[in-house]
Amino acid sequence: MNISILVFGSDKFLASLPDQIRDATAFSVEVIANLNQAVSRIQNTPPDIILVQASLNASTELCCWLKDQTKLSWIYCILFEDRPEILSQRNWEWDLEMTSTALKQGADAYIWQITEEKRDQKSALSANNRLILAQLTVGLRKAQKYRDMMQENDVLSAIALADSLTQMNNRRALEWDLPRQIQKSRNQNNPLSLIILDVDFFKKVNDTYGHLVGDRLLQLLSARLRNNLRFQDTAFRYGGEEFVIILANTTGEEALLVARRLNRIVNQEPFKINNQVTINLTISLGTASLRDEDDANGMSMLDRADKYLLQAKATGRNRVISSNYLSHMSHLQVVSS
Ligand code: GH3
Ligand code: MG
Ligand code: MG
Repeated sequence: MNISILVFGSDKFLASLPDQIRDATAFSVEVIANLNQAVSRIQNTPPDIILVQASLNASTELCCWLKDQTKLSWIYCILFEDRPEILSQRNWEWDLEMTSTALKQGADAYIWQITEEKRDQKSALSANNRLILAQLTVGLRKAQKYRDMMQENDVLSAIALADSLTQMNNRRALEWDLPRQIQKSRNQNNPLSLIILDVDFFKKVNDTYGHLVGDRLLQLLSARLRNNLRFQDTAFRYGGEEFVIILANTTGEEALLVARRLNRIVNQEPFKINNQVTINLTISLGTASLRDEDDANGMSMLDRADKYLLQAKATGRNRVISSNYLSHMSHLQVVSS
């Protein structure tokens, strides 16, 4: 692992650090002395370790800011004391006082720079350098642990949010994603729609061909749906043979077109199971678009789409029912089969 170190300090400060830091190929070191630049660098590409020169005006500010950032507070922050007025007053009481202040302000470690006069004493210099390198090792250990944990988290989230039969996003993923899509759509003033669809007479498939064929059919159907979605659409297996598709940046009219297309791609071509059984399948669909009065979790929007789905079932199946958003036809429903 290549460790990235951000030095918040001057070039002169960097020059005072042990040669091992600047020369080692295992470290990539960047020096920034401006607070705003440092903050945007940390936000864009978080380093593993930050070395802060205490004499820099904004040193405390940077440490405090870092520990307030939930997603960045894992970065190991070492505060380097190089202020001559503090270094000259050092005694053990000062050491305790200054260390506790530094830790309270957000640093993970507080180290004293060796003073100019002690620089000539080889043993003092190498002891100081050893401490600096030891602190970097601690930072490295933390960064490695954090990355392992994030990787594990990613795997666990992927398992928790995927449906094991179809590999589609599951209902939990929908419950996580829908509120976010709603918030995004409201913040950016973009339309948002969704489709809920249910396989017609699926029980009959199970009863006729058995559960395994039913399972395989659900896999094939999921793949067909997924392959026919646009890049901004996200499909979820909502329940047994029921699916929800969130259509980002999509108006009601566009949602109706997407739903009609999905209806067609299912009913126009039968599903072949293991080259032995060919099954004709149809689906019923309901769509809804986000309204101002809809709740932030999307329950009312889902409910509206579900009502249209029930109407599609009640009026003959194999069709889309949606509220119509064309102004001259508002409050009417569009039925399409
Ligand atoms: P409708 O047109 O009214 O939706 O009729 P339907 O038969 O599809 O509806 P119903 O809700 O009565 O039946 C759904 C069936 O889907 C019942 C259930 O056994 C089956 N099912 C749900 N999940 C799975 C699954 O994972 N695998 C299989 N093979 N069948 C499933
Ligand atoms: Mg059904
Ligand atoms: Mg159902």
